[in-house]
Amino acid sequence: MSRTPLIAGNWKMHKSGAEAVAEAKKLAELCTDVEGTDIMIAPTNLSLPLVAKAVEDTAVKLGAQNLYFEKQGAFTGEVSGDMLKAAGADYVLIGHSERRQFFGDTDEWVCQKTRAAVESDLIPVVCIGETEKDRDEEKTFFVLDKQVTDGLKGSGLDELKTLVLAYEPVWAIGTGKTASVEQVEEVHRFLRKILEEKFSKDLAERTRILYGGSVNPDNVKDLMSVEDVDGALVGGASLDADKFINIIRYE
Ligand code: PEP
Repeated sequence: MSRTPLIAGNWKMHKSGAEAVAEAKKLAELCTDVEGTDIMIAPTNLSLPLVAKAVEDTAVKLGAQNLYFEKQGAFTGEVSGDMLKAAGADYVLIGHSERRQFFGDTDEWVCQKTRAAVESDLIPVVCIGETEKDRDEEKTFFVLDKQVTDGLKGSGLDELKTLVLAYEPVWAIGTGKTASVEQVEEVHRFLRKILEEKFSKDLAERTRILYGGSVNPDNVKDLMSVEDVDGALVGGASLDADKFINIIRYE
């Protein structure tokens, strides 16, 4: 089964509405001849409707950086999947390490958010990854297994059919340290095996597994050459369309 690569940009808490629109328009223009790769950017929620209008009918699709799992109610500061969909998002990041580290997102929340995303017709991009301490203590595979198992617990095959997993070693995010090709190869193979064991061979084969962590125009080609790497989740280097396009055109 061939999987269409996905190159996704996480803009985190950067750019005003006007800046986001300008950068997204520039990116859409640079992408007009890109074929065979899905492209997504995740601006802040405030910019989503503006950017959605700016990139309408282009190859650039939108994602949100988080959602809450309830549909509506007294949840001050939160936004539901339906609201994000209505604002123009097709994807949503779930369980990004910054959410886990600074805002207390747990695997249980990841699980509920993933189901809520699918219910709102959003493609869930579930982020997992070990800390430096986990790796030093040789707990990488244990941690990843738990994050996948608990984060997707109770979800049915049908619910997970659009699932995207993003392997983002925490020690590589925003640090300039990238996991080696061997480390990425080993982890992605392991993740596909877990998906097969816990769900099905078909699900394992169809799920796109992205790598994230200091991806840049210089290292993307090597990372994308790894058999089980189906794309990249990019933070810092996605903020500048001139840089990001070189990641999108990784070949
Ligand atoms: C991220 O935030 O998901 C990320 C991978 O960031 P960076 O590319 O800046 O390491």
